Amino acid sequence: MYIVPEAIIKDHISRQDCFDAVEQVFASMAAGSAYNFPVIREAIGHADALYGFKSGFDRQALNLGLKSGGYWPGNSDKGLTNHQSTVFLFDADTGKCQAVVGGNLLTALRTAAAAAVSVAHLARADSKVLGILGAGHQAAFQLRAVAEQRRFEKIVAWNRSPEKLAGLAAVAEELGLPFEKVSVEGLCAQADVIVTITSSFDAIIAANLIRPGTHLACMGTDTKGKQEVDAALVANARVFTDEIAQSTTIGEAQHAVANGTLAPADIVELGAVINGSQPGRTSADVITLFDGTGVGLQDLAVAASVVERARAAGAGTEIAF
Ligand code: NAD
Repeated sequence: MYIVPEAIIKDHISRQDCFDAVEQVFASMAAGSAYNFPVIREAIGHADALYGFKSGFDRQALNLGLKSGGYWPGNSDKGLTNHQSTVFLFDADTGKCQAVVGGNLLTALRTAAAAAVSVAHLARADSKVLGILGAGHQAAFQLRAVAEQRRFEKIVAWNRSPEKLAGLAAVAEELGLPFEKVSVEGLCAQADVIVTITSSFDAIIAANLIRPGTHLACMGTDTKGKQEVDAALVANARVFTDEIAQSTTIGEAQHAVANGTLAPADIVELGAVINGSQPGRTSADVITLFDGTGVGLQDLAVAASVVERARAAGAGTEIAF
């Protein structure tokens, strides 16, 4: 069994590796050769923790396994990240445990890669302004990954507490892009591509703010009740997702589906666009919206990629198990 500790993950996987892994597994899901198992998520009644598993099998890449982890709100007082996760990979032919991989950095990288894959396949080629809504832990990862997908000339960003935008401003400077703190209205008026990455439970973006031709990657809503954009915006957009079952129940589309303005049958898996079996953007004016809910197969895909690279570099530890 191979162990890749959290501390060395950053040295053995790039954003491009994550992009490739996530794009492949989305395609595999849409082709019916990869599927996610039901998600388990429980309040364990100890340390205020939420704990669970996301798991699945990609028959094409032969990635079988799970991500185990959750949220421990008291961790920051102990010098640890509140979100903790670990990926376990198993040999699809024998069931033997093949690898244990730190899952914290990988979670941020695979989430940003999903937004980036959506932008690569759905945003207008002439997109110039990138808008980021949110400035928490995930936001800088999103900015770096999405900024690589188009020739952006400017970054605009909004956060509920504007002082937290300093981190995104520093990333934009590193990327050599002008950065502007804006209102939600100002962001929607300028941005050609918008990433939403907040933990809001109420719509922040009203439907009438979005200009024709915008692409939105809605990445923050991954739980029942969360919401970042007006349900009417989702109902009027061409909606794409990683997995339809999650999109309609825990994703951004849950509200439009619940109020009957969006039919689940009208939601397209992004993998089907990657495979060429469904059209993506059909005109320069259409509003495209990617509902990125986060699936276990993404975790397995990036973990398998890091194991391959760490092993080739002689990093990590092989143990008899
Ligand atoms: P974080 O706690 O570090 O940051 C939260 C962000 O949300 C901050 O910008 C905060 O200002 C903003 N926010 C919170 N409540 C808000 C409200 N009511 N209105 C407006 N803004 C509000 O969290 P994070 O790690 O950056 O994660 C952000 C979101 O992304 C969370 O909801 C998380 O569950 C989700 N997430 C999704 C995936 C996925 O695969 N789709 C993966 C990881 C995280």
